[in-house]
Amino acid sequence: MLAEQADQADFVLREIDSLIDPRPLITPVLMRVARWISDYYGANLESVIRSILPEAVRTEEHAAKTRKVAVLAKFPDQDSLAKIARRAPKQAAILKLLESMPERRMPVAELGVGAASAVRAMAKSGLLEMIDEEVRREPDADLAEQFVESTPLPLNDEQASALAEVIAAMAEPAPHAPMLLLGVTGSGKTEVYLQAASHAIEQGKSVLVLVPEISLTPQTVRRFKSRFAARKELVAVLHSHLSQGERFDEWHRIRSGEARVVIGARSAVFAPLPNLGLIIVDEEHETTYKQENLPRYHARDVAVLRASFESCVILLGSATPSLESWHNCLTGKYHLLRLQQRADGQTMPLVRVVDMRLEATKQKSGLAIFSDKLRTAMEQRLEKGEQTILFLNRRGFARSLQCQSCGHVVHCQHCAVPLTYHRTDERLICHVCGHQAIVPQVCPECHSPGIHLNGYGTQKVEEILAKILPQAKFARIDADAMRRKNALRDALDAFKAHKLDILIGTQMIAKGLHFPNVTLVGILNADLGLHVPDFRAGERTFQLITQVAGRAGRGDLTGEVIVQTFTPHSPSVQFARRHDFDGFSEQEMEFRQQFHYPPFCHCAVITSRSTHERRAEFTMQTLRLRLLDQLPATIQLGEVLPSPLIKAHGQFRFQLTMRCAQARPLTRHVQAVLSKTSLPEDVTVVFDMDAYNLS
Ligand code: ADP
Ligand code: ZN
Ligand code: ZN
Repeated sequence: MLAEQADQADFVLREIDSLIDPRPLITPVLMRVARWISDYYGANLESVIRSILPEAVRTEEHAAKTRKVAVLAKFPDQDSLAKIARRAPKQAAILKLLESMPERRMPVAELGVGAASAVRAMAKSGLLEMIDEEVRREPDADLAEQFVESTPLPLNDEQASALAEVIAAMAEPAPHAPMLLLGVTGSGKTEVYLQAASHAIEQGKSVLVLVPEISLTPQTVRRFKSRFAARKELVAVLHSHLSQGERFDEWHRIRSGEARVVIGARSAVFAPLPNLGLIIVDEEHETTYKQENLPRYHARDVAVLRASFESCVILLGSATPSLESWHNCLTGKYHLLRLQQRADGQTMPLVRVVDMRLEATKQKSGLAIFSDKLRTAMEQRLEKGEQTILFLNRRGFARSLQCQSCGHVVHCQHCAVPLTYHRTDERLICHVCGHQAIVPQVCPECHSPGIHLNGYGTQKVEEILAKILPQAKFARIDADAMRRKNALRDALDAFKAHKLDILIGTQMIAKGLHFPNVTLVGILNADLGLHVPDFRAGERTFQLITQVAGRAGRGDLTGEVIVQTFTPHSPSVQFARRHDFDGFSEQEMEFRQQFHYPPFCHCAVITSRSTHERRAEFTMQTLRLRLLDQLPATIQLGEVLPSPLIKAHGQFRFQLTMRCAQARPLTRHVQAVLSKTSLPEDVTVVFDMDAYNLS
């Protein structure tokens, strides 16, 4: 603020008393990033800065921990030592001990009981010096994991040329086009990341590695730790299990330039690394990169922006890139690097699709969980001592109606999304246009009465499995089963050591796992993610099937994947079966363009929440009217609708979708309206730019 402005302000400016730290906590680039987030996502700057500076760093409470260390100042001659020994034997013992230490120093706490007063006395007489030394609170010290340094693998041609392009980009002056590494599962993307990171380190630069979730990508983290094992201090892993003290220390190690390889999830995009040379975003398509609390930023997009501000190279990687990033490749904004082969010479797994409509009639038990084909395949694996992964996608609570005889899913007449069942008023509602329909008693297609809501859970799978394969040893991995710290890692270790035959899991096991002995992957209900009221449903299903299928056949044995579905002809299933990203993206892009969805526009969702249903709805109606007033012609405004998740945490929710070719005009218009609207006290309104969660 300028002095003349300060004169007119209705508050008093104070003199600065002293600086907490000579270096600013927020670098100029991160300040620019904060302003951009605030502007783009319509989030208040303070909340953004709170995200950038972890609480552990903002408060003094967790400041560096120190310990007292005794350093020998001068070792007395024999006579004096003998005198001291008679008068104060403890002091003499300490002196002798320190004399024998390589650096003639030791932490006071390690000198034994009663040492403190002896040390103090000797410090007074000048025999010793007492100093305060910073102790690093080392994360995972308790785990005592030993990492053996891994040597870089000789790259295959595809990997080598991808790496060469990344290295060449690092040598060129900015601006750098972001790079997208599209490599099939098992194509050795991680090895490319590792070697690119090593190169940046050799150049004296630092590297930021973003992963979807630290606890879900233990193998990726371990591979980075191993590669840099000889220079352990270079690596900092920012995960949610860090204590405040550990977080404080790691943050300062990063800011000071000691840790130059930072691996972390979403919020690590703000790690205060000086001299960034390379940013890697692994599994860039993952929606966990989108923060679902204030400020609702997308870490991949922020990373791309930060890279441009830092003039550094950014490498996004995936076997199934988001259509947003793919679109950027097609339009020439991003530079595409491709790995089409598996790195270790393995073939892609064979994917078989099982039509569950036939199974349901065959088994007559209502809902068939295991098809005959999958059951037989599991039995064969057990006999041969090979392992199986069973995957059940439980994403989404919103349930669609599906006919168990013909597979028909009830869709909206006007939009390309299934209708969502609302239990409260026994109705089907379209979450795009608001169209409503009554719940049919028989299938509108084949008139079978077997029309049901989709859905069963992993626990049910576990229960049935114990019945049909009593001899198998298995574990279940999902959010419920994995509450305990390290539970996931323990289960994965047991699986790796082949103490388990079968792993049953949700999305948690879809990412980055590499088990050479897994030759069978079963996807129990590929439809679950497909018929949710979200235009990204097809994309997510394709990604999930591809990613999960990619867990099979990663060793010397060929893998097989069995996909159980009620809609075997859906493009998501068929293209995933053929490992055909190009085919999938081509038809999906057509659909997005036709219905004007991202990446052909930006899509934002405004949600109101209140314990009073009427007030939540009324607030949205009012907001909608105000938004309509002077609505820029480029913005499409949807209808006010109950959210698919109509009530959550005791609050009713209503929402409104907005679309616009450009993000900024939309955010500005909404912010302008919100700033002029006083909301009822008991209603919360949330604006989510580039929304990924439409529920
Ligand atoms: P992705 O990350 O693309 O899924 P990974 O990096 O996990 O693939 O690689 C799959 C497997 O191939 C790993 O076991 C890895 O060690 C191995 N691998 C990677 N690159 C090579 C290479 N150039 N030569 C031999 N094996 C490789
Ligand atoms: Zn039917
Ligand atoms: Zn509709």
